[in-house]
Amino acid sequence: MSRLPVMFIGHGSPMYALQPNRYTQSWANSVINLPKPVAILMISAHWYTRGTWLGAMPTPQTIHDFGGFPDELYAVEYPAPGSPKLAKQIFDLLHPTHPTVTLEESEWGLDHGAWSILKYMYPLADIPVVQMSIDATLGHSQHVAIGQTLRPLRDQGILIISSGNIVHNLAQVIQGQDVPPATWASTFQTFFKELVASGDFSPLINWQDTQFAQLAIPTPDHYLPALYTFGLKHPEEQLQILTEGIEMSTISMLSFAFA
Ligand code: ZN
Repeated sequence: MSRLPVMFIGHGSPMYALQPNRYTQSWANSVINLPKPVAILMISAHWYTRGTWLGAMPTPQTIHDFGGFPDELYAVEYPAPGSPKLAKQIFDLLHPTHPTVTLEESEWGLDHGAWSILKYMYPLADIPVVQMSIDATLGHSQHVAIGQTLRPLRDQGILIISSGNIVHNLAQVIQGQDVPPATWASTFQTFFKELVASGDFSPLINWQDTQFAQLAIPTPDHYLPALYTFGLKHPEEQLQILTEGIEMSTISMLSFAFA
């Protein structure tokens, strides 16, 4: 079985689920030439928890985890099956080094960090999806370590996708299309891209003192998913930029893969 890439997708506005655009096209394109995965592991910014939770339900519900959007968006369903078996397999991999991992069998499901992307990548929703939460209590390098522990899954037909936004400042968003990016947002995105291309992840893992990091990452939830990919990457793999851009002045749409 051939190794599947690992991806970080900048998901942006939930409305993209209804409005195909150049970003959603790039998400769809990113999987066109891949063998069909046996299952998908989604690491979503929108499941931000104490402890690492693994969705282990056979039929995960589509969660509309936002407020104030049109009814049409609440009607979107992504009825992919779950995989309690894969969830248990991941649990067993993680548990020795991350004892706070927990199987979640009733609550949650697939949130919009997962389905707003998967809807474009795999519109048939016929591949089992397991969602994993992000433990808000971990140190930064522990997210990388979890990624490293999960690396063998990539050779077992599992497509691992982490979903967030590397620049995500909702307080300073300017609504509208074609809004010019904030200078600090562009600067931070360039900084991130250069380091991720060079494989020098350390300043990205310990970002606190980096210029503009406080503006780019006012809260870590949307940034942390990227750290998992650093651990999931094999040393010889190269960076592929899937798409980039800054929307609404302060949301980076940078998406990348290691393959
Ligand atoms: Zn989001």
